[in-house]
Amino acid sequence: MDPFASPHNLDKQLHSLLVEASSNLCDWLAESGTQGPMPDSFDLPEIPPQREGVSNKDLLKELQLLMDGAYRPSHPGALAHLDPPPLSASIVGELICATLNNNLLAEELSPSLSSLERNLCKWFCEKLGLGKSAGGVAASGGSLSNLMALVMARNIAGLESDSGAVFLASEDCHVSLLKAVRIMGLQKEALIKVPTDEKGKLNISCLSSILKKIKSNGKNCFALVATAGTTVRGAIDPLSEIAQFCQKNNIWLHVDGAIGAIYGLSSITSELLQGISFADSVTVNPQKLLGIAKTSSLLLVANKNHLSSSFSTGLPYVEPLIGNDFHGGELGIQGTRSAEALKLWIGLRQLGEEGIEQILLDSIKRRNFLESIIDSKKFQIISGPLHLLALSPINYNSYQASDWSIKTRKYLLSKKFMLSRPYYGDRHYLKAVMGNPNTKFNDLKLLAELINHSII
Ligand SMILES: *Cc1c(COP(=O)(O)O)cnc(C)c1O
Repeated sequence: MDPFASPHNLDKQLHSLLVEASSNLCDWLAESGTQGPMPDSFDLPEIPPQREGVSNKDLLKELQLLMDGAYRPSHPGALAHLDPPPLSASIVGELICATLNNNLLAEELSPSLSSLERNLCKWFCEKLGLGKSAGGVAASGGSLSNLMALVMARNIAGLESDSGAVFLASEDCHVSLLKAVRIMGLQKEALIKVPTDEKGKLNISCLSSILKKIKSNGKNCFALVATAGTTVRGAIDPLSEIAQFCQKNNIWLHVDGAIGAIYGLSSITSELLQGISFADSVTVNPQKLLGIAKTSSLLLVANKNHLSSSFSTGLPYVEPLIGNDFHGGELGIQGTRSAEALKLWIGLRQLGEEGIEQILLDSIKRRNFLESIIDSKKFQIISGPLHLLALSPINYNSYQASDWSIKTRKYLLSKKFMLSRPYYGDRHYLKAVMGNPNTKFNDLKLLAELINHSII
């Protein structure tokens, strides 16, 4: 058989492969509820290619092994991380994307899809109020979006060769910022951590003295990263106050909204993000809550020219663009990129504004509900305004909390609830993320009961 589909007539083999693979996938999804979030064990298919290629029938069997051993984000008990099940339209979007196999590097390799990405980024910018000159680029994950934002901020500050340059973020900022430090050739101390308050938000009252100290040490600060939705408790830094501080001190404000910025898509929840419109750049990760198939992240920039002035090298081997726009490959770190905007766009179209709002509001409702039925005499609950919460027994020391978290996590898994076990502050917590639309209030009642009985 020909492994490439015929460009001349309907390729029956591809057609039946797609039909069978789709049918197996639908079966896999349909049985997810009776399985658990995690498989008990799994077998791997043979890894290296054989002398002769494998038939489609055998390929499907081998795929089944991988599917059986996969994590199941659509199981109602899959609550450990920011990994919801995929929207139906987004699944199809991914398939279409692979079939078209266009390249977002350059317009001539993706005429419609490059425009789609550009316009979709603009729409996100409008929703967040980033202004008329705003634009963005899709990236394979929030770590990359954050890295690009920091590289850009440093560039615009003219500090790209200053190995002593620093930037600010709260104690609860995401680990991707530390990675960025390493990649950018900065010293470990370049990431200056601002203390958080009791709600896990950046403590604004510390900023002035920290900046003063930076200056008196002869250092230059090129950015402040505010987090909209911290990883353990979903706290949102005080964006308006931070924006004022940044404006006054001429510091680039990047909002790491990998978790929270998506709440800007509904006028009800966007109030949580007051001040985000003053950001110079924003990371948003639709993969984390809306159910856009991984990966889906956008870096949005108030002045889109900053992207090209930071990353454009010229692409001498493709046709130049007419007008003011740049090729996708000139707007970020990645060269060849798949059209990830496609599955984002189609997912948003499938949901409509109402569907989007529903997902956002429901996630918060589930967190509120779970929080209300956890025994507050037994547990300290930490959460913010979003859909995450973490809890740990009140009277335990750090050692007891660690022991409790290991045992309880394992016990919950045996009951098909998967929570994660972050270390935060001075102890371990169990964390639940309420981004799974398949989790119903009855599931949460059972979960709370199991948790409440995990200590006497
Ligand atoms: C997940 C996350 C990131 C990183 O995003 P990836 O897509 O996992 O690379 C950055 N910041 C925050 C706050 C996150 O939660």
